[in-house]
Amino acid sequence: MSSTFGTYKYFDCREFDPHGGCTFRTAGTEAEVLEAAVRHAVSAHGYRGWQELRLVLRAALQDETGAPVAALSKDRYESVV
Ligand SMILES: [Zn+2]
Repeated sequence: MSSTFGTYKYFDCREFDPHGGCTFRTAGTEAEVLEAAVRHAVSAHGYRGWQELRLVLRAALQDETGAPVAALSKDRYESVV
């Protein structure tokens, strides 16, 4: 039984490169975060080698403990009330 629904990851450039001075952060499903992280590494930091980047960045993904969907719902709720 596989359950990937509800599992979120995040990538924080400050954790990947604490001395880089970059504050890029993205969160979502593993596929979304990996895609965004690879694009960011290439466009913002000049990394090359997409295959290698995917392996390295995939290992750098962290589990997102807060559920983004719940946070979004709460924000929307409060903006309506
Ligand atoms: Zn960065």
